[in-house]
Amino acid sequence: MAETTENSSEEMILTFADFSNVSMFYINGVGEITLHSGGHNPEDRSFIRSEDLKKIFSGQSINLEHQDPSGNRFFVIGQPIYKDHTVSSAIYVMASTQSMDKSLAAVRNLLILSGIGAFLFAIGITWIMALLFSRPLILMQKATKKIAIGELETRLEIHSKDEIGDLAVAINNLASDLQRYRDTRQEFFANISHELRTPITYLKGYAKVVKNHLYETEEEKDRYLDIIYQEGIRIQHLVDDLFELAKMEEGKVSLYMDRVDLKDIITFAVQKVALKAKDKGLELVVHPSASDSIIRGDSMQVEQIVLNLLENAIRYTEQGTIQIYMRSTFDTVSFTVEDTGIGIPEDELPYIFDRFYRVEKSRSRETGGTGLGLSIVKKLVKLQGGTIQVSSKEGIGTCFTVQFALRTMQEE
Ligand code: ADP
Repeated sequence: MAETTENSSEEMILTFADFSNVSMFYINGVGEITLHSGGHNPEDRSFIRSEDLKKIFSGQSINLEHQDPSGNRFFVIGQPIYKDHTVSSAIYVMASTQSMDKSLAAVRNLLILSGIGAFLFAIGITWIMALLFSRPLILMQKATKKIAIGELETRLEIHSKDEIGDLAVAINNLASDLQRYRDTRQEFFANISHELRTPITYLKGYAKVVKNHLYETEEEKDRYLDIIYQEGIRIQHLVDDLFELAKMEEGKVSLYMDRVDLKDIITFAVQKVALKAKDKGLELVVHPSASDSIIRGDSMQVEQIVLNLLENAIRYTEQGTIQIYMRSTFDTVSFTVEDTGIGIPEDELPYIFDRFYRVEKSRSRETGGTGLGLSIVKKLVKLQGGTIQVSSKEGIGTCFTVQFALRTMQEE
């Protein structure tokens, strides 16, 4: 606009300058201010320097920063104005930095505020995250403390599918294992004291009768003494069995694993119980048909298994035959003890391997059983890597089968 020949354009430029917050100066070739507009005091000419004017009149633009005597800062731009291809005058435009400074201060304040905001936000998020992570750990700490003081019913309600969830499941499993262990131990001690109390009562009672001569005939006295003797044997059995079982439960039983011929052990065990069977008028038949019967086991413990099963068969059979079969496959050998005794009701079969479990509470008491024999058998079979199975029909007979792995060539 400055370069048009119309006079009104100069006027317009100055009016624009008044509207916007800038000051304008027209300077002619000899450095005089020919026109001026805007709030800046025209007396202050310190920003118009002769070397700048030289540059402008040679066709260049200049820009500088200027500070007036009262300390206000300005951006100054100087520009040549051409008329007929020659520089006729220079125009200076001055803009105060005050509003820019204000904007900068506003931006700075905004930055500081948003910095503080972001910092507080980060602290808040960290706190919430820490709370989220630490809450389950605190719950676990409380739960384990409770478990440690014996509150074994304590369970954690954490179902997350991550490591924390896995840990919670492990703690719950531990608590239920401990609970089961405590319950069975309590039950075990309750059973032991019950089992011991009964024969001790008999012993005390009959010993007192004999001591105070409360019998009428010598035969009666002998009968009482016999009861005392039988109950003594019973306690001995019970203590022996308990000792065996306790050792096994604690994993303290040491097995001397070696090459063992199952056929020899069965023959030997059958010889041992033959007299008992004969006393009851029972027939003992061994069918040793297995071609291979060498296993890896502890001969004493394998014999204990066979003896317990044979003794049970004799104890719970009034008449008939007790048969022992042996069978082998390419990698297993098994033996079966089959009797024609009273049998075991089907619904009781799952429990007969439990400690102190008796089918009829009175039946094995009469026969001197402790209710521990089969649980010992099961544990011994398991310790030597075998399996045991039972089938029975009440009034017809019972059949126990124990299977072991055959000793392999590598083990030779
Ligand atoms: P127990 O010392 O009382 O015989 P066991 O653990 O050996 O204890 O046996 C558990 C129960 O299983 C016995 O009380 C008995 O009732 C039943 N039982 C075991 N073997 C036989 C069998 N061959 N015939 C019938 N019942 C049996």
